[in-house]
Amino acid sequence: MNQYPDYRPRRLRRTAAIRRLFDTPLPGPSRFIWPVFAIPGTGRCEPITSMPGQSRYSPDRLVQALDAPVASGIGGILIFGVPDGAKDNEGHSAAAPDGIVPRTIKAVKKAYPDLPVFTDVCLCAYTQHGHCGPLDAAGQVDNDRANAVLARTAVAHAEAGADGVAPSAMMDGQVQAIRQTLFQAGLPNIILMSYSTKFASAFYGPFREAEASAPQSGDRRGYQASYANPRLALTESALDEAEGADILMVKPASLYLDVIASLRQRSDLPLAAYNVSGEYAMLCATAERGWGDLQSMVRESVSAIDRAGADLIISYWANRYDELIREHV
Ligand SMILES: [Zn+2]
Repeated sequence: MNQYPDYRPRRLRRTAAIRRLFDTPLPGPSRFIWPVFAIPGTGRCEPITSMPGQSRYSPDRLVQALDAPVASGIGGILIFGVPDGAKDNEGHSAAAPDGIVPRTIKAVKKAYPDLPVFTDVCLCAYTQHGHCGPLDAAGQVDNDRANAVLARTAVAHAEAGADGVAPSAMMDGQVQAIRQTLFQAGLPNIILMSYSTKFASAFYGPFREAEASAPQSGDRRGYQASYANPRLALTESALDEAEGADILMVKPASLYLDVIASLRQRSDLPLAAYNVSGEYAMLCATAERGWGDLQSMVRESVSAIDRAGADLIISYWANRYDELIREHV
């Protein structure tokens, strides 16, 4: 039998050059999508304190900020609008054709016509109460009214030139509503990347600072998936596939590698993993305190998300790919 002392697995990892024969490379930049926060105006770049290396940008400054990541070869961007206009119960302004997201899409597409541009489609940044859809008289999010506004929002983004829309509200039937509305609007080729398995997570904190979108009261557990019920969370992805999604997603990523791996087995659709703000901030804070090396921690966590089976990694590391992930041989 081939065992110790004859068999010695250390032979295959004895030197860096030997390990390189067998190690799977880290995912390349084209598999990374950079989430960006768009604010109105010009010349604005507001660093996000809880996310070092990330800022909110006005469209002109975002175009500048994209120079380096585009040159490094990232796969695309995912735009979040941070509006400064009036908010209401319904979140109507999310669907405004001249809103911050459509204006940002146009600016980015003018500078980078080939860069794949996705947009987050949700209402929480546009409602007074910060929930992802209109509230009914009982204070619950009204699922079907939310779907109507989400669908109009997706059309506004698509008409502005987005390649894909990414609904994140976790409303039942939202993918079907958006797909049908895009089709009726003569937009059959828009990619629909669904936040299909999105958990109610405590790791979205820094994002809510960036997006100013925390709910004024209550929480989102009435619509986002429960981490304690992974079967129901996987059902959400199956439904979105049936409703016409082109890409499925698990969010967050590193705490849900088992869910990514399960979904990889269940669907042949491309699978995205959203490496969220809390995962980013956690590693930044650890490194800042001198308790870990940022580059090593980033590489290990990105490798884990890749190994679990994600095709696309939506991550704030994307604009820092050359600094933290690119391997120099
Ligand atoms: Zn939302």
